[in-house]
Amino acid sequence: ERMMQIRKQNCNPMTMKVTSYKTPAFIHQGHMQWLWDVDGKRYLDLFAGVATVSVGHCHPRVTEAAVDQLKRLWHTTNIYAYPPIHEYTEKLASHLPDPLKVIYLTNSGSEANDLAMLMARLHTGNYDIITFRGSYHGGSPQTMGLTSNSAYKYPIANGLGCTNTMCPDVFRGPWGGSHCRDSPVQTIRDCGCAQGHCMANDQYIGQLKETFATSVPSRIAAFFAEPIQGVGGAVQYPKNYLKEAYKLVRERGGVCIADEVQTGFGRTGGHFWGFQSHDVLPDIVTMAKGIGNGFPMGAVVTTAEIAASFGKGVHFNTFGGNPVACAVGSSVLDVIKEDGTQENSLHVGTYLMTELAKLRDKYEIIGDVRGKGLMIGVEMVKDKASRDPLPPDAMNEIFEDVKDMGVLIGKGGVYGQTFRIKPPMCITMDDANFFIAVFNKSIHDFMERR
Ligand code: PMP
Repeated sequence: ERMMQIRKQNCNPMTMKVTSYKTPAFIHQGHMQWLWDVDGKRYLDLFAGVATVSVGHCHPRVTEAAVDQLKRLWHTTNIYAYPPIHEYTEKLASHLPDPLKVIYLTNSGSEANDLAMLMARLHTGNYDIITFRGSYHGGSPQTMGLTSNSAYKYPIANGLGCTNTMCPDVFRGPWGGSHCRDSPVQTIRDCGCAQGHCMANDQYIGQLKETFATSVPSRIAAFFAEPIQGVGGAVQYPKNYLKEAYKLVRERGGVCIADEVQTGFGRTGGHFWGFQSHDVLPDIVTMAKGIGNGFPMGAVVTTAEIAASFGKGVHFNTFGGNPVACAVGSSVLDVIKEDGTQENSLHVGTYLMTELAKLRDKYEIIGDVRGKGLMIGVEMVKDKASRDPLPPDAMNEIFEDVKDMGVLIGKGGVYGQTFRIKPPMCITMDDANFFIAVFNKSIHDFMERR
């Protein structure tokens, strides 16, 4: 009854805004890829709390590790040494290539990106930072400046969000969002979009060079990029695009930062980190979300050289790398290995993409299917000829219908036109088939109603 009262009052502004469900699912329990609401209805979770629950809700071994640590020691601050932090940082470092071996632990992705910004500026002595359109790098006042999507900004002073006021230093890449009309969206096909309208690969690279030549200052501190844009709608870059950007950034004295908050920890299947598919080696890697399977954690990993510039100051973080976080993080890494989580991400993700591509060929309103592993975007359009984004009310209709049939998915993209599939990486082929059947029915019914 109490739950019903709360539900009626809609008294949680965060829930209401973020879920955009007419009636948000009132979730109270989870196990692996499943969630249950207060009425006992079961949902297949294909959004994982925004790509965060990496190995499964309340994964038994991760839970056990957390409980064990909770009984022993919760907190010390990083003033003291304690075994879990040493075990954990060593284990995490073993997943990163040389010379990325110095680790700073934080509590979130925004905090990690804030720290990376500071490191880059201290190390290079430069100030300006480059990000791409459609990017999401955080919701703290600083990282909001890096984030491009205006939906996540606030109208302050005389501008929209902090880009124009607190962070006039942020420049944008040459393209705008996940819609193939104005961005080099790459799909599982090679051309850059499912319908083949996109420019040839070298034209994108040419555009990138042109933007750097005309709009980017001669000295910069850093370049932030997600290896695949997450909130932007599983946007992929044209071949060698990121590699060329890294080169242009380094020519201007900047450091290259891979924001692996969504793409890390095996989510893209083929590699442990997203940057590994781009044939680049970042100077700084930031991570969060999947690192803790839902436990609030984040990290910045960098080189000894960059850490030395940063180490001249005093860096203090009360909760970053607390013993419980380290025990959880360590257990997540073990589970990814023991359960074959990354391999499963590739296996089930590839299957899902193939099946979704069949639906794309079947339905006029599915414009594009893209992604890697279990980081998938399904871009919805009014029709394939116009490529106009499917309007929000239509998106919501399908979104709601899929939920009513027992599957939770996400939404994203610059125009809110992309469904996002980023489940706990333990989902099975049966789950994939269940979702495909649900999604097919929901699109079919939607088309019938029109
Ligand atoms: N970077 C990326 C790529 C993200 O997707 C997010 C969160 N959506 C962040 C940074 C910020 O992470 P947090 O919400 O943990 O601060």
